[in-house]
Amino acid sequence: MSTDFDALVVGAGIQGAGAAEALAMAGYRVAILEQLGVATATSSRSSKLIHGGLRYLESGQFRLVRECLRERRWLLANKPQLVRMVPFYIPVYRFSKRPAWLIRLGLSLYALLSGVTSGYSRFRAVPRAEWDNLSGLNCDELVAVYRYYDGQTDDAALTRNVVDSAVARGAHLICPGSLVGAELTPQGMRVDYVADGQLSTLRTRVLINCSGPWVADTNTLCAPAAPLPPLELVAGTHILLSLSLGEKIFYVEAEDGRAVFVMPWKGKTLVGTTERSYEGDPRDVTPTLEEESYLLRTVQRYFPQTRTLQVHDICDSFAGLRVLPQNGTSPFSRPRETLLCCDDEKHPRVLAVAGGKLTSYRATARKILRKLRPTLDASSEAGISEVEQRSGAGRSEKERNL
Ligand SMILES: Cc1cc2nc3c(=O)[nH]c(=O)nc-3n(C[C@H](O)[C@H](O)[C@H](O)COP(=O)(O)OP(=O)(O)OC[C@H]3O[C@@H](n4cnc5c(N)ncnc54)[C@H](O)[C@@H]3O)c2cc1C
Repeated sequence: MSTDFDALVVGAGIQGAGAAEALAMAGYRVAILEQLGVATATSSRSSKLIHGGLRYLESGQFRLVRECLRERRWLLANKPQLVRMVPFYIPVYRFSKRPAWLIRLGLSLYALLSGVTSGYSRFRAVPRAEWDNLSGLNCDELVAVYRYYDGQTDDAALTRNVVDSAVARGAHLICPGSLVGAELTPQGMRVDYVADGQLSTLRTRVLINCSGPWVADTNTLCAPAAPLPPLELVAGTHILLSLSLGEKIFYVEAEDGRAVFVMPWKGKTLVGTTERSYEGDPRDVTPTLEEESYLLRTVQRYFPQTRTLQVHDICDSFAGLRVLPQNGTSPFSRPRETLLCCDDEKHPRVLAVAGGKLTSYRATARKILRKLRPTLDASSEAGISEVEQRSGAGRSEKERNL
């Protein structure tokens, strides 16, 4: 008996969108199940940067940085309407935790990893004579300013674009539709979901759990489940200020030494982000007053013209959830690599995607495709007989009772 789909992707954030697009492009029959709306969760609440992540060099995540920089290059060439390069400025003060030599070292390594042939890989020290043109940046105790380039996007628009591309290639979007349960049967995975207030069922050969901060909850609805390691949700808040500081991104240190971005966003200024452990329902994550004050204090430390602003002058704020492996260290230095966990490495039926970056969604999608090929490319008969062997479903009642 054939299945309705080759692959069901649960979640239409950037990871689900990327996986669905890659699978549809490879010619598989794909469905996407999304409970809330395309890009309504983490993928619209990020810092909106298409970057390697300069600060990940501090924690030695060179592979991740190189992969993201490669993806940045592809996105700039192929989605120029959605991704643009923006000048980033790093001011170094007498009181900064990271001295000028360390910033120079980091930027040199970043340039090297982005490929020296790229014109955008060059960085420079901004001459003192130009410091007055830096959007009113506080020059007291300023010892150096470095400029380099990185990418900015509209995360929700990028995600919608990738979902549209998947749909244009034949993917079937069920939205809103919420997973109720998935179970391996001799006819493939049987998936129950609710859409339009009705319980429906579909059959698929593989299920890809791209449910972001819900990844562990979705995993418990699957039989077999993927062997996910212990995960932690870490909330990150951004605030939006109505004043504009020009088309520059500033990379500044908060009072606790954490790196915070001050970015142009639709004529306003976006400041973020924070990191706090979160244990509630992912739907309920919202910025706290403490986080908003911390971000406002950070921007006021560097831009004197914002010092009259109060918390009630913040025109908008939002919080998103990172999915990080639990390892007892500070979330700031925790690895940001994407985890891909399968129920069975040789013949996967359920694959769970945890963590990762907006920037590297295509690289993640390629890895997903590689992991699922053995199941997707096995003939239906072969796949089913293997399931029968595993579940005992193909044997007679008498044999099963032996
Ligand atoms: C504060 C913050 C800043 C960040 N900044 C950057 C950045 O600047 N650059 C960068 O590259 N990365 C950044 N990231 C990382 C990036 O945003 C995330 O990796 C990415 O958005 C995660 O996408 P996702 O598809 O896994 O999850 P999500 O976007 O959360 O999507 C998961 C989807 O699954 C759906 N879902 C869940 N359960 C079910 C169910 N049972 N049935 C149906 N649907 C379900 C949800 O409704 C949701 O839409 C940031 C992350 C955070 C938190």
